[in-house]
Order: sequence, then C-alpha cells, then structure tokens
Amino acid sequence: MMKKSIATPSRTKEILEQYGLKAKKGFGQNFLVDPVIVERCAMEAHLEGSVIEIGPGIGSLSEQLCKIAKHVTAYEIDEDLIPVLTNELKEYTNFELLCEDFLEANIEEKVKELKDKYGQVVVCANLPYYITSPVLFRLFSCKDISYITVMVQKEVGDRFAAKVNDKEYSALSVEGQLLYDIKKLFTVPGRSFNPSPNVDSVIIQFSRKDKIIEEDIEDLYNFIRACFKQRRKTIYNNLKDYREDVDIKEILKEAGIAEGKRAQELSVQEIEELYRRMHER
Ligand code: SAM
Repeated sequence: MMKKSIATPSRTKEILEQYGLKAKKGFGQNFLVDPVIVERCAMEAHLEGSVIEIGPGIGSLSEQLCKIAKHVTAYEIDEDLIPVLTNELKEYTNFELLCEDFLEANIEEKVKELKDKYGQVVVCANLPYYITSPVLFRLFSCKDISYITVMVQKEVGDRFAAKVNDKEYSALSVEGQLLYDIKKLFTVPGRSFNPSPNVDSVIIQFSRKDKIIEEDIEDLYNFIRACFKQRRKTIYNNLKDYREDVDIKEILKEAGIAEGKRAQELSVQEIEELYRRMHER
C-alpha cells in the first residue's frame, strides 16, 4: 500500500497524537497539511543538487524534498521533533537532520561542504514567522546559495517583492533586490496549515544575481535603512542625519537625484549608486 504523505490533515493529526505532541507557538509551528502546496513548492525550488531546510517540523516538506533532491540538510530547533523526523523519514538516506538553532549554526561551512559535494545549494522552507527576516539575512550572506524558495507571511513577501513607488516598497525591498531577483510564486491559504495561522502566506523565491558586492554588506544595509528611516522625509533630510561629515546635496547632484525625492521614489540602482558615491568620500 502507498504511504500517505505527511502533509495531509489525517497523517499530521495521527503523527501528533502518536508522539504526544502539540504545535508549539513559541517556535512558530504551523505544519503544512496540503500535499498540493508541498509538491508545488518543491517543484519550483530548483532541486538539482542539495537543499537546506530551516524548520522541518514533522517532515511535511522534507519528505517531498528527499524524494527529489540529492541531499537534504534540515535544521530543527525543537528536540521533541527529532524522534518523529528520524522515524518518519528513515527510508531516506539522503536526509541529514541537525538539531540546532539555525541562527546559531555555522552555515557558511555547511554551504561550502554541500557545494563541494553536490555542485548546487538551494534553500526551501516554510519559515518560522517570528524569525523570518533574521533567517533570510543569514542566508543572504551566503553567496553560494543560488535559490531561496520560502513560505513567509504575505505582508513580508509583498515588501520584499515591491517595486519602486509601490506602497510596500521599503528598505527590505532594496536589501533583497540588490542581490536577488525576487518573485512571488503563489499564495497559500490558512487552511493549508495545522494550526491555521491568522495571516495569509505566500511562497516567494529569491534567485541570486551574478553580482559581487565588494563593500561590507552590513554597512550597505545600514545605509539603505537610513535612506528609508522616515518615509515622509526627503532623501536629503534622511541622509543629512546619517552622515553629517559629507555634503549630501553635492552627492545627490552628482548622482542626478533631486533633493526633494523620497527613498520610495528611488530605484534599487539609484540607491546603490548613492551608496557608492557616499562610500568614496
Ligand atoms: N516545515 C514544516 C512544515 O512546513 O510543516 C514546519 C514549518 S513551521 C512554520 C517552522 C518550523 O521551524 C518548526 O518546526 C519550528 O520548530 C522550527 N524552528 C523555529 N525556530 C527555529 C530555529 N531558530 N532554528 C531551526 N528551526 C526552527
């Protein structure tokens, strides 16, 4: 008899009962119970080599990743889920489970190891919502991860994918789009999870651009955040507070940007150009 996918309402309920578990809010646990969403997400994730999953939960998405990718490395913080994953996914010899807080893990070393062994490293995950941005920023620092396909809150997805002049266009949009082409793939309704979250979700994909940032990325991100510090203020006023030692008017003029503009009216390229000019001073 064919084994039922973990990502179904009945199998998930059965597993939680069997192991005496309840979804833990504190770890952002919302388990996927929709096999169509799981298959679609995995299909879009470029699983040609190895894949890293953050927060496998009870294995709903991991099961599908194991069927397609050469190797799956999953970081799970919740010790109570380790016996479930070890047991439910025991037939997959390509599954590597690390009981670790992803934010504390040495991912640079792991990515290097996976890249050397499997040629390609991607990320595919249903992210714990309470740490979406820190997880993504950790991933952004690894240039060898070619695609990041993740489920996030719709609002966060909208901000990452927003274009100049959109209501949602913000520091997050520029920080992401500087290094990635960002696409919203599809929305995921609340009923696809157990328990259902109060917010809508979206699957979003980051494709790494073929581009090297020579400067310190943290410094660049600080600059971007300064540009958007007060949305109602002009770029001139925001930058004046950020760097008092340089002539902002002159830099804006050189970059061909009117001082009355606001950051949300500037393209990613314009903001990057401003940063470079500022950095040269
Ligand atoms: N992938 C599963 C699914 O789609 O059904 C579970 C997703 S659930 C939204 C998030 C998972 O991330 C949970 O299993 C949670 O325990 C785990 N998690 C939360 N914080 C974590 C951290 N800092 N490091 C690793 N895993 C974490």
